[in-house]
Amino acid sequence: MKTSIIGYPRIGRNRELKFATESFFNNKISLDELLACAKELRTKHWLKQKESGIDYISSGDFSFYDNMLDLSIMLGIIPKRYLNLELNSADTYFALAKGYQGEKGDVKALSMRKWFNTNYHYLVPEIDKDSFISLNTSKLFNEFNEAKSLGILTKPSLIGPLTFLKLAKFSFKCTSKFISELANAYVSILKEAQQFDAEWIQIDEPILVTDLTQDDINLFKKLYTTILKQKGNVSVLLQTYFGDIRDIYTTVISLNFDGIGIDFVEGKESLSLIERHGFRKETILFAGLLNGKNIWRNNYDQTLKIIERLKAITPNIVINSSCSLLHVPYTVSVEDKIEEPSKQCFAFAEEKLIELTELALLAQTPNYLNSEIFKSNAVIHSDIKKSINSQVNARIVSLTEAEYERLPKRFERFNIQRATFNLPLLPTTTIGSFPQTDEVRSNRTKFKKNLISYDEYVSKLHELTASVVKLQEDIGLDVLVHGEFERGDMVEYFGENLDGFLFTQFAWVQSYGTRCVKPPIVFSDISRPHPITVETSKFAQSLTAKPMKGMLTGPITILNWSFPREDISYKDQAVQIALAIRDEVLDLEKANIKIIQIDEAALREKLPLRKSDWRIEYLDWAIPTFRLTHSGVSPETQIHTHMCYSEFQDIIADIDAMDADVITFEASRSSLEILDAIIKSGFQTAVGPGVYDIHSPRIPSEKEIIDAIKLILKAMPEEKVWVNPDCGLKTRKNPETLQSLINLVSATIKVRKSLK
Ligand code: GLN
Ligand code: ZN
Repeated sequence: MKTSIIGYPRIGRNRELKFATESFFNNKISLDELLACAKELRTKHWLKQKESGIDYISSGDFSFYDNMLDLSIMLGIIPKRYLNLELNSADTYFALAKGYQGEKGDVKALSMRKWFNTNYHYLVPEIDKDSFISLNTSKLFNEFNEAKSLGILTKPSLIGPLTFLKLAKFSFKCTSKFISELANAYVSILKEAQQFDAEWIQIDEPILVTDLTQDDINLFKKLYTTILKQKGNVSVLLQTYFGDIRDIYTTVISLNFDGIGIDFVEGKESLSLIERHGFRKETILFAGLLNGKNIWRNNYDQTLKIIERLKAITPNIVINSSCSLLHVPYTVSVEDKIEEPSKQCFAFAEEKLIELTELALLAQTPNYLNSEIFKSNAVIHSDIKKSINSQVNARIVSLTEAEYERLPKRFERFNIQRATFNLPLLPTTTIGSFPQTDEVRSNRTKFKKNLISYDEYVSKLHELTASVVKLQEDIGLDVLVHGEFERGDMVEYFGENLDGFLFTQFAWVQSYGTRCVKPPIVFSDISRPHPITVETSKFAQSLTAKPMKGMLTGPITILNWSFPREDISYKDQAVQIALAIRDEVLDLEKANIKIIQIDEAALREKLPLRKSDWRIEYLDWAIPTFRLTHSGVSPETQIHTHMCYSEFQDIIADIDAMDADVITFEASRSSLEILDAIIKSGFQTAVGPGVYDIHSPRIPSEKEIIDAIKLILKAMPEEKVWVNPDCGLKTRKNPETLQSLINLVSATIKVRKSLK
């Protein structure tokens, strides 16, 4: 049985590509040096896959920034504003990726969106009336030839036409002329592949795992009938991932693809689709059996059982990763802080290569149950199952419906809280963090490296907190925050203070461009060994008579920004985290913290790709789990939540059902569009739509903020409106923050006066 990899991480084991690219941006290295670094990385990655025994290795999966951008460039779809800069091709590429500001002009980057249900972001192709396709395949085939010169015959891989069309932004109605040009471009690519003696080409169509209309299905048929008719000697692999292709399965198998890649990890209906509708004998099934998104060792027993079932249907099976390994880190072997036996529970990209070849071997071994490889894998999995905390589980079992429901109802709480806090109309606040200056960061780093004592660390922290509290009082904000100087990252901080998480040192995963994240791992049952934020919040509250917000990260966000376990459900993991946060909420309340904010910055992240799955698979448990964190507080305690985006029109009732008293969210960049939806839905939560954009150093004028507040007041009754920035101020600098907040407060005061 053969093995295949859809794509390999490209940033480098030590993030070499990130650092080289950033040095190039800062003019510290030349383009040639950057190209050399990239080539070295590609070589390493191909050789690694080859040495590990992988049969079908991709080329073209490398990118300096993003593969969707690479495809736009390959097709010659470059908006005029970038061409007008008249930059060389490398600079044009990076102008599209991250904007350009210099002698030749000033243009913003293409917009960026989340890549399906991952934390990776792609650059959105822009197609306007003047766009036409002019093919330039040099990147794709140079890389193919580069691998060939190493003796590795790769499958050039690229994103397919339907995914491209569906994800691109059109400023006009897409014409059938454009569609046939696009199909012809793929025909030309296949012809070239043939000229270069490629045996296979991989065309990725992840869009097929989303809800498709009949029009989409017809479009798919049209595109691929053209493409496949002229494929010549090249074998075409249609690669799908991130779910099953239930809406289009029968169409897909009826076309003469040489290979079809199907995801059996996230595709919960994949197996039954194949069993029900069959699979053409002439086509090779690239079975995505190895999770390309998570870092746990594959469970060979389970996987081999699936392979057995597949073998009963079709003889030609290649074992594949479920998606590109772009979404996992390089190797667990360098993680010297993770000890055995825990370490053997993990398989990052390099370890997954070994797993693939082991599975291929076992799948051909008649008595694989007796093989050493199989047995040791089984032992690892029984170890993983042992990590059970009986106390946590007993608590979950004894949870009652009542604990998911806060009483009294929100409108009653509203009146009680109004009397308790006696805040002015349009209370002003911030989202939590204040600028992370060098002083803030170095205090944490020095303490982590044992360069200063705990007392020294805390005394500096107190000094920083006191000064930010004083600052907020001077500015005249109504509800204050402590500034979050004790935390670098909102998830990591809680992960480090909870039992059950594991942290890596080098396990970076690309999020977009040169940016990488290092998610913690949910390793075992989560519990809270001690209060986390209580002392800090108590200290901050002691400095002021104004209410000080306690500041927590919510369970869904903590889970969504971590590598989750695979042996228990997301829901169960979220409930465990929620119970820990619930205890923290109650401890804060006991310590006299009267307003508590529980951030759910990433609530939308794991919303399923198919709308039909939203409720049952996600919202039905995620929203109640959030409520579990705060349902135990008294009516006087005010619960806030915060979201980093405003695209929640489609789940607005669910957001309201989180039953927070106040929600703050990002709104300024979306021109407060969400307000319409808020009015229509009869939203009950009080709202603080961000009145200015904190993602830029620009200082908003008082007038702008007044206008934003007035717009909000058109949508919401004035007693339900808060005034605040878009998000935390962590990434900003002090001077601009100060001036922006001064303007925010003075704008609010003016609007208040006008309301009287
Ligand atoms: N409280 C956090 C902060 O202010 C929220 C950050 C976020 O939403 N990403 O930084
Ligand atoms: Zn935010």
